[in-house]
Amino acid sequence: MVFGEQLSTQVVAPDPEIVTLAGEAVIDSSIFAALDEAGIPARFSVDLAQMLGGTVDFRREMAGGETLRLLWREARVGEDRIGQPELAFAALEVGGSLYEIVWPDDGSGQATIYVDGEVLRVFAQPVEGARLSSVFGRRTHPVFGNVRMHTGVDFAAARGTPVQSTAPGRVSFIGWRGGYGRVVEISHGSDTMTRYAHLSAVPEDLAQGQRVAAGDVIGRVGATGTATGPNLHYEVLVDGRPTDPLTDDRLAEAAESEADDTAALSRLAEARALLNENLGSEIAKTTTERL
Ligand SMILES: [Zn+2]
Repeated sequence: MVFGEQLSTQVVAPDPEIVTLAGEAVIDSSIFAALDEAGIPARFSVDLAQMLGGTVDFRREMAGGETLRLLWREARVGEDRIGQPELAFAALEVGGSLYEIVWPDDGSGQATIYVDGEVLRVFAQPVEGARLSSVFGRRTHPVFGNVRMHTGVDFAAARGTPVQSTAPGRVSFIGWRGGYGRVVEISHGSDTMTRYAHLSAVPEDLAQGQRVAAGDVIGRVGATGTATGPNLHYEVLVDGRPTDPLTDDRLAEAAESEADDTAALSRLAEARALLNENLGSEIAKTTTERL
């Protein structure tokens, strides 16, 4: 803005540079603490917990001292970071198995988990880069004030943020359900269903009975029904009973069969190379030996 006799303004579009960064953290107590200590964005621990929750039992399998290696992207203008950093690759060895996750940069929101270099499953997050604002279990209800069972997990995000199917399936319901507000439900085989609630909108061409893939946009974040602000309430039901989405295994089974191994393996090779390149020579050497 120019302040003179007449005020004039000009819009200057920033020209962000995408920077790829790598780091490693040794896990002693929690992933969150380890990342925080290593100066790596601690919010990545939510992405990692969501991805690995159904695969690794962190409390039981981790002995402490495991090394987590991460590659991520951030947009910068000069020294300033624009928006939130995004994970590109994670590698973690637990109990003699090497777990790796690749988040591609193609806007698909689809991530692939590998165990010992082989595709384990394809997984999508219901809302990309969102903050996990409430977990599954008993809690004091934010609107009613009493202690109730929270039957899903909440992701706080701006109204209108795309909501994605987390696994392949068939749309089984689109409509309104009381406190859930506007809802989309997707069935994954006969016993597992995912529910996406408080939506502000649903794509016009989304129809009941339609097949969707992991990562397909099935709605927009909103605050319909009983909600204190825009958020996605995400539920996983197994035989009609709500289960903790962060530890559910069966969704993954539905997603497993859709993995395109050849493309997925070349993405893994690419991500490994980029991680090595960015971690510096000394770390790259030990990583290469292990891989
Ligand atoms: Zn909720």
